Amino acid sequence: MSIKIASSALTIGIDIGGTKVLGGVVDGSGKIIDSARRVTPAAGGKELIATIVELIKELSVKHEIAGIGICVAALISADQGTIVGAPNIANLSELNFVAEIKKVFDLPVIAENDANAAMWAEYKFGNAKGFNPVMFFIIGTGMGGGLVIDGKLFRGANGIGAEFGHMIVQPKGILCGCGAYGCIEQYASGSALMRYAKDAIASDPVAGKALLDAAGVINNLTGEILTQAAKNGDQLAISAFNKQADWLGSACASYTLLLDPQAIVVGGGVVQAGELFLAPVRAAMEKYMPFAGTHLLPKVIAAKFGNDAGVIGAADLVRG
Ligand SMILES: [Zn+2]
Repeated sequence: MSIKIASSALTIGIDIGGTKVLGGVVDGSGKIIDSARRVTPAAGGKELIATIVELIKELSVKHEIAGIGICVAALISADQGTIVGAPNIANLSELNFVAEIKKVFDLPVIAENDANAAMWAEYKFGNAKGFNPVMFFIIGTGMGGGLVIDGKLFRGANGIGAEFGHMIVQPKGILCGCGAYGCIEQYASGSALMRYAKDAIASDPVAGKALLDAAGVINNLTGEILTQAAKNGDQLAISAFNKQADWLGSACASYTLLLDPQAIVVGGGVVQAGELFLAPVRAAMEKYMPFAGTHLLPKVIAAKFGNDAGVIGAADLVRG
C-alpha cells in the first residue's frame, strides 16, 4: 500500500493527545505552513474521528493535500491501522483510524505511535539526523520511545517495539499506566520529577520555601516553576532533576548494551532544563555503564522539535 508522494506535495499531520488534537499542513522539508487545533473530545472513539475529519477539512480547504498521517499516544498495530491500546484516550481500542479516515478522504492515510512519529521528525529534519542506530525518548507526563535503525523506524513484530518507557527497573515497584509495576517511566518521567520535588518539599518545607512561594500551594507546582528554580540554583529543584537524571542515565546504560546506539535524543518538556538535566544523565550513564571503558558511549543530546514533532513526523511518514 506504500504510495510514494512527491516531495513538492503537501501532506497533513495530525497529533492526537490526551487534551488536544493538533493538525498541520507540512511541506517536503518538514516545515509546517498552516495549522489548526481542537480539544480532544472526552468520549474519544467516534467523536474523536469526527473531530479529526473536521480538522482535516479545515486544513484542506486552503491547501491541496496528497496524504494524511495521524499519530496518537497509543500502541498501533504493525500494519499501522488499528489502535491496540491507549491508556489516556477513551474508546480507542480496536478503532481503525486508517479505515475511518479513508471513508471520508480518498487519500493515502497512515497511523503511527506519537513517539515514533516524533522520532521520525528528529531523524528526518532534526537532531537525530545522521546517527545510526539512534534512540529517542520523549519525556513528558509519561515516557515514550522511538528507534531508527538503518533509516527505518523499528516497530517490532507486533508494532509495540521501542516502548522504552516500559522497561521494568523495579520489579514490584510503582504501578504504571500500562498495568505493569516498576517501569522506568515511573522513575524518569516528568511525573516522577514532580513527585520527587513534592516529596522533598513535604519532608523539608524550609528547603522547599522558594518553590512553595513560587507555586502558592504544593499542588500548583509545575514543571516550569521547577525548571526556573533549578536554573536559579535552588538546591531542592536541582536534586529533583538529578534524581530523575540518575534513573534515566542508568536506563541509557542498559539500552546502550542492548542496541549500541550512536546517539540518544531526548525530547519533551524536560528539555527546557537543557544541560541542567542532560549533563547528569550523561554522568549517570557513565557511572552505571556495563563493560565501562571498553566501548564508546552514545551521544546524549536534546531534540530539535517541541510540540510540533508529532505533526511533522506523521506528515512525513505518509510520504512512504
Ligand atoms: Zn509501564
